[in-house]
Amino acid sequence: MSECLFCKIASREIPATILYEDEHAVAFRDINPQAPVHVLIIPRQHIASLAELKPEQTALMGHLLWVCAEIARQEGVEAEGYRVVLNTNRAAGQSVFHLHLHLLGGRHMRWPPG
Ligand code: 5GP
Ligand code: ZN
Repeated sequence: MSECLFCKIASREIPATILYEDEHAVAFRDINPQAPVHVLIIPRQHIASLAELKPEQTALMGHLLWVCAEIARQEGVEAEGYRVVLNTNRAAGQSVFHLHLHLLGGRHMRWPPG
């Protein structure tokens, strides 16, 4: 059994507010939202970070981006706009080492990010 938090959310061993799931991906609300809409999109497959991505997983990454766009539509932030963030390793602030995309929306985003 995996000790990974997001693997446990994907297998429903740990509860989360799941908005979408399919064979390859799961999307759920962030427990500590940084915007009115803050959703995490993960692959079911355990990939520790973007730095670990293999060439055969590139279609999966494309699928995760499509899920982001779909959730943004569902959550009503598509027209105003939204941000997708993928923190990789320590300096970027990655704290959970199961690759995840942050979908942030519902407020104005500043640039450059902090
Ligand atoms: P990172 O800092 O690795 O890019 O993002 C990890 C995210 O996971 C954070 O935004 C954090 O709030 C979220 N998170 C951590 N633990 C849990 C949890 O148990 N449930 C949910 N839904 N989100 C979590
Ligand atoms: Zn995992």
